[in-house]
Amino acid sequence: MMHITYGTEREHAAALRRGLQCLGKEFLAEVCWWCDGTGTREFECCSVCGKGRPYGTALGLLTSDSRPAPESVVNQVLVASERARLCIVAP
Ligand SMILES: [Zn+2]
Repeated sequence: MMHITYGTEREHAAALRRGLQCLGKEFLAEVCWWCDGTGTREFECCSVCGKGRPYGTALGLLTSDSRPAPESVVNQVLVASERARLCIVAP
């Protein structure tokens, strides 16, 4: 089960943003509005993107209908983020 490593919440959130930017608007996922992509809020596991997942495994990403994004989608965003330097983002 995927989870955000303790202490890397901000980096994770930044990686999600970068990945989503790279994937473009057609990619139907967004950074969680409640925890801002960090998976935690006020030292608690986020109850929005962590909904239906074991406690502590919120991933900071939502689908376009505000449900927790599946791990495969989170993975896709993180991979895109790693490739972000090769990605040409339209102005
Ligand atoms: Zn969240």
